Amino acid sequence: MHIQTLILGAGAAGMMAAAHAGPGVVIIDHAKAPGEKIRISGGGRCNFTNMGTTHAQFLSQNPHFAKSALKRYTQWDFINLVSDYGIAWHEKTLGQLFCDETAKDIVAMLRSEMDKADAQLWLNTGISNIAHDGTHFAATLTRDGRDTQITATNLVVATGGKSIPKMGATGLAYQIADHFGLDVITPRPGLVPLTFSDDKFKPLAGVATPARVTANGTSFDEALLFTHRGLSGPAILQASSYWHEGDPITVNVIPAADLFDKLRGARETSGKKALTNILSMHLPARLIDFLKDDMNLTGNIADQSDARLQAICDALSAWPLLPSGSEGYRTAEVTLGGVNTDGLSSKTMEAKSIPGLYFIGEAVDVTGWLGGYNFQWAWSSGWAAGQAIRSTPT
Ligand SMILES: Cc1cc2nc3c(=O)[nH]c(=O)nc-3n(C[C@H](O)[C@H](O)[C@H](O)COP(=O)(O)OP(=O)(O)OC[C@H]3O[C@@H](n4cnc5c(N)ncnc54)[C@H](O)[C@@H]3O)c2cc1C
Repeated sequence: MHIQTLILGAGAAGMMAAAHAGPGVVIIDHAKAPGEKIRISGGGRCNFTNMGTTHAQFLSQNPHFAKSALKRYTQWDFINLVSDYGIAWHEKTLGQLFCDETAKDIVAMLRSEMDKADAQLWLNTGISNIAHDGTHFAATLTRDGRDTQITATNLVVATGGKSIPKMGATGLAYQIADHFGLDVITPRPGLVPLTFSDDKFKPLAGVATPARVTANGTSFDEALLFTHRGLSGPAILQASSYWHEGDPITVNVIPAADLFDKLRGARETSGKKALTNILSMHLPARLIDFLKDDMNLTGNIADQSDARLQAICDALSAWPLLPSGSEGYRTAEVTLGGVNTDGLSSKTMEAKSIPGLYFIGEAVDVTGWLGGYNFQWAWSSGWAAGQAIRSTPT
């Protein structure tokens, strides 16, 4: 069987590409349903884009690579598509857009777009033996246990990264890149909770507080959550993408800078109250209890000099911590690294060395912050590849 375009992976990027790549598309996935990560994303409501998307919210060895695709298929294009389908949405926070009802509406919308384009979706289908003879790709597909030989003019690799193997993530994209001589930046888990081998935060499990978390010079002001095994919450997930094994992080648990003035004020009005009680009015009491010995938080507020209050604020705003690891691919929302963008066209996502071979979505070394950016990259890169294929003369 010969087709125009074979797309591997019916996730966010693959479905978008299938809807735009023109006639003769077969899109395969080894899962029994398409878009499974979309379905479970955003707590079942899918944070499908971010109104503030620019290339600046993405990590990549080439920070400029994402610019072209993001500019040509923007968050507003996707918002228009969602609105055309009558899917109601709302902004939750920081420009993050979610479905009002269910993430399944986004999957159904993409399926409908694929149907309009006559793309064939083959589920429960695996792939082996990919080759390229200079003009065509030849592959063996195993569908419901039966082998089918297929040749295609274009091969689009949209099998994502390694995050959440339980949901079918395999790292196949990296093997295919390697097979065709493309460089792969070593993948690692991103947007992932950080762990501490001594379980030091166990007594604080469940405590959440606003924080500024800094890893390797990049800071995020969002919620911090203590867990049985370490630290989580959006501030940590964001910082984790900038963190490497062995690096320290800095946690500021008083990101609103006025604690010093508040403590001085309390010294005037409530001098007989314990310092820990006053601090517990501004920070979770369990956190103050946890820190009180290390930080020597003794005495009444009236006993504290300005210098002492300043020292307490300094310590609370620059708490140095050394994570021992991360929760890994088991829970990571994304995979950092991937197919090196040096080998790809930023306009079309096509491999420079093999015409007709495309890599899109999370498989590529472009990883967004938390907040809808990763789906926007999937939509934009999928659209860019689809458009390029559709406009290539056959
Ligand atoms: C729990 C969770 C919540 C998330 N929430 C959000 C969110 O709200 N907003 C946001 O922007 N991002 C979110 N993300 C990230 C987002 O889901 C991904 O960045 C995005 O799905 C990547 O799209 P993709 O198409 O490149 O890969 P995927 O969506 O992972 O799709 C890859 C597809 O390839 C298939 N596949 C893999 N290997 C093979 C193989 N060997 N053979 C055949 N098929 C294969 C998989 O079954 C899958 O269907 C979340 C991620 C997780 C894990």
